Amino acid sequence: MKPLNADLHCHSTVSDGLLAPGDLVRRAHGNGVELLALTDHDELGGLAEARAAADELSLRFVDGVEISISWGDDQTVHIVGLAIDPANPALAEGLQQVRSGRDARAGRMAAELDKAGIHGAYEGALRHAGNPAMVSRSHFARYIVEQGHAKDVKSVFDYWLAKGKPGYVEHCWASLEEALRWIIGAGGIGVIAHPGRYRLSRTERHELFGAFKELGGRGIEVLSGAHKDEEVREFARIAREFGFLASRASDFHGPGESWIDLGKMPDLPADLTPVWTQL
Ligand code: AMP
Ligand code: MN
Ligand code: MN
Ligand code: MN
Repeated sequence: MKPLNADLHCHSTVSDGLLAPGDLVRRAHGNGVELLALTDHDELGGLAEARAAADELSLRFVDGVEISISWGDDQTVHIVGLAIDPANPALAEGLQQVRSGRDARAGRMAAELDKAGIHGAYEGALRHAGNPAMVSRSHFARYIVEQGHAKDVKSVFDYWLAKGKPGYVEHCWASLEEALRWIIGAGGIGVIAHPGRYRLSRTERHELFGAFKELGGRGIEVLSGAHKDEEVREFARIAREFGFLASRASDFHGPGESWIDLGKMPDLPADLTPVWTQL
C-alpha cells in the first residue's frame, strides 16, 4: 500500500509563517499532501480558516498547535499537540499565558541587538509579526536580513539569534507538564517536535523523552524538515525504544525560508506506527 502523504507540522502568518492559513492549505494540496495539520506557535487563530480551505479541497485536516516550553537549564523545547479541540478553554487560556510573555521578550531582544549595532529591531520585528503577542525570532530574522546585516534568515540565527549570540535572551515559556496537560485535556496527542534541533546530551535527551512519556506524551517527529538521515534513524530507534507513535512533519514556514516544502519528506520507516493511525 502506498504510504499516506501526511504533513503534521507547519506554520501560517498567524504565527511566524509567510502564507495565510488558506494559502498554506492550498499549497499543501498542490504538493500532494493527503493529511495536514496546521501547528502555529502557541496560537489556534488560523485553524478555522485552514479547515474551511481544506474542506473545500476535501483534504483531511487536523487541528494542531506547537507549544513552546522551557526544559532544564534554559533549553527551549517544542511540543506539538495534534487533534486538539480548539474550543477547549484551558488550552486557550494556557496559550494566551504563553503568548503574553512575547512582547516584553521582544523588547529585551531589541535592546541587546541595539547594543550590537542593529537598531530599530523591535519596530521592525513587530511590523513583520503584525501583533506584539506573536513576535518571534523569525520576525526579527526577517528584519535583520532586510537591513542587510545577514544574507538570509538561517544565517541570522547563526550570527545573531541562536543561544549565546547577541540577540538571544533567556525566557521562561510553559512547562512540559503544563503543555501536555493542556493538549491531553483538549483531547489531543502530544508529540515532541524536531528532536534533532535541541542541544541536549544523550542523557538529557533520554530524561526529556522519559518525562514526556511519563506525563502522557505519545509521539515523536521521526521525520522533520530539519532532520538529517542519521537523525531520522536515531529517532526511529527512540520511537521503538519508548513505544512512541511516529510523526512526519515538514515544519514549513514559507517558500524560500524552510528546509523542506510541505509534504516533501521521505516516508516513515515501515515498522513504526504512524501517529495518524490514532487521529
Ligand atoms: P521563538 O519562538 O521566538 O524563539 O522563535 C523560534 C522560531 O525561530 C522557530 O519556530 C523557527 O521558526 C525559527 N528558528 C529557530 N532556529 C532557527 C534556525 N537555526 N534557522 C531558521 N529558523 C530558525
Ligand atoms: Mn517557527
Ligand atoms: Mn519548533
Ligand atoms: Mn514549527
